[in-house]
Amino acid sequence: MAVIDLRQSIIDLYKNNRLDPDLGEILQKSLEGKEITKKEAYRLIRCNYRNLGVLMSVASIVRNMSKGRRITYSRKVFIPLTNMCRNRCGYCDFRREPNDPGAEVMSPSKILSIAEAGKRAYCTEALFTLGEKPEERYSEAKEELKQMGYNGTLDYLRDACEMVIKKTELLPHSNAGIMTKDELADLKEVNASMGLMLENVSDRLCNKGGPHELSLGKRPKLRLATIESAGQLRIPFTTGLLIGIGELPEEIVDSLYAIKALDKNYGHIQEVIIQNFRAKPSTPMARHKEPSVREIAKVIAVARLVFKDGMNVQVPPNLSPNEYDFYLSAGINDWGGVSPVTKDFVNPEAPWPEIKTLKFVTEKRGFELKARLPVYPEFILNKPDLLPESLKSYITPLVDSEGFVKGGIF
Ligand code: SF4
Repeated sequence: MAVIDLRQSIIDLYKNNRLDPDLGEILQKSLEGKEITKKEAYRLIRCNYRNLGVLMSVASIVRNMSKGRRITYSRKVFIPLTNMCRNRCGYCDFRREPNDPGAEVMSPSKILSIAEAGKRAYCTEALFTLGEKPEERYSEAKEELKQMGYNGTLDYLRDACEMVIKKTELLPHSNAGIMTKDELADLKEVNASMGLMLENVSDRLCNKGGPHELSLGKRPKLRLATIESAGQLRIPFTTGLLIGIGELPEEIVDSLYAIKALDKNYGHIQEVIIQNFRAKPSTPMARHKEPSVREIAKVIAVARLVFKDGMNVQVPPNLSPNEYDFYLSAGINDWGGVSPVTKDFVNPEAPWPEIKTLKFVTEKRGFELKARLPVYPEFILNKPDLLPESLKSYITPLVDSEGFVKGGIF
C-alpha cells in the first residue's frame, strides 16, 4: 500500500472511530518521516490490540521506505567458547557449573573443526557466544584457562578469533558479556562486529526475585557503558531487547531510546534484535509466562518507528518458527544469524530453519532474501572507518557492490 493511501486509510479509520485519534496522529507523523517522542512511543506500546494491524502496516511502510524489499540473514556457525558463567540469569539454561556434565572451555581443535565445517557449508560468520568471565567465579575455570596459557576468557577468545580468521576466513562476531574499553579494544582487531544485548534498561529486573538478581553483568548501567565504549572505539555493534522477562511496556520504550541515544552519539549500532523470552523447564523462570506473538509484533513495530531512519530490526527466526509472516508484516528487515551447521546452543530446543525455507517464506511475502556478513552492507559501504583494518582484506573480497555476500544464497 502506498504511503498516501495508508495515510488516507488512517484518517478514514479514525473518522469512523475505529482507530484512537491520538494514535492516528502519531502514526501519521511517522509516515511523514518525523521523529516520534518517547511519550508518543509509550502511547504506541500501550495501544489496544485492535489498533495493532494499523501500527504494523505503518511500521511496514516505514521499513520499506528505508530498507526496500530486502530481508537479510547471516550464514554462520555458533561457537560457545565456554558455557560457564559468573552470572546466573533466571531464564538461562545455557550456563553450566564447573562440575555439571557438559561444562567446558572449548579446545582450539574443537573450535577449529566447527569453523572448518562452517567454511565447507559456505558460512561467513563465526559467532562466539559465551558465558561471562567464569574465571572470576570459579577456580576450576581459572585453572583450566591457566593450563591453556591464558589469564582469562577474553584472552583466549582473542586468540580463538584470530585462529578462525587465519585458518578459515570466517569473520568473528563476539558476544562475550560486559567488557572494559581495553578489553573491547583488544578484541576489535579480530572481530568484524561485536554484540551485547542490552535486554532491558530497567534496574528493577535486578531486584530480589528478578531475572537479573544474581547477575552483576546484567546491571543496565554496566551494559550501557560497554555499548558506549564500543561506540567510542568505533566497533560495529549489535544489541537488542529480551522481551517478556518482567519488564513494563514503558521500560521497553526506555530501552529502545537508550540504544537510540547511544547510536546518535556514535553511529555504531548496526542492528537491534527483538528476542522473545522462552521459559526453559530447568530454570527458575520455568513457569514465567512467555510473551505472545502479538506482544512481540507490537514491540517490533514500535522499534521500527522509534528508529525511523533505517536501523536494522531483527527477530531470530528459530524462536518463532510459525510467525515469519507476522513479523515481516510488523517491520523487521533481518533474520539474524542462521546456521546450516551448528545448533543454537543458547536455545538448543529451537532448530534453525533451513535457508531454503527462510527464502521461501520471505519471497512469498514479496521480499528478496539476501545474505550479509556479520557487519552490515551499509557499514561496509558507508562507514568503512568502522571496519577493523586487519579484517578489510577478508571482508572486501566477500561482498558485491552493494555490500551483500557475493553469490547470494545457497
Ligand atoms: S544468559 Fe548469559 S549472562 Fe546470563 S547466565 Fe546465561 S550465559 Fe550467563
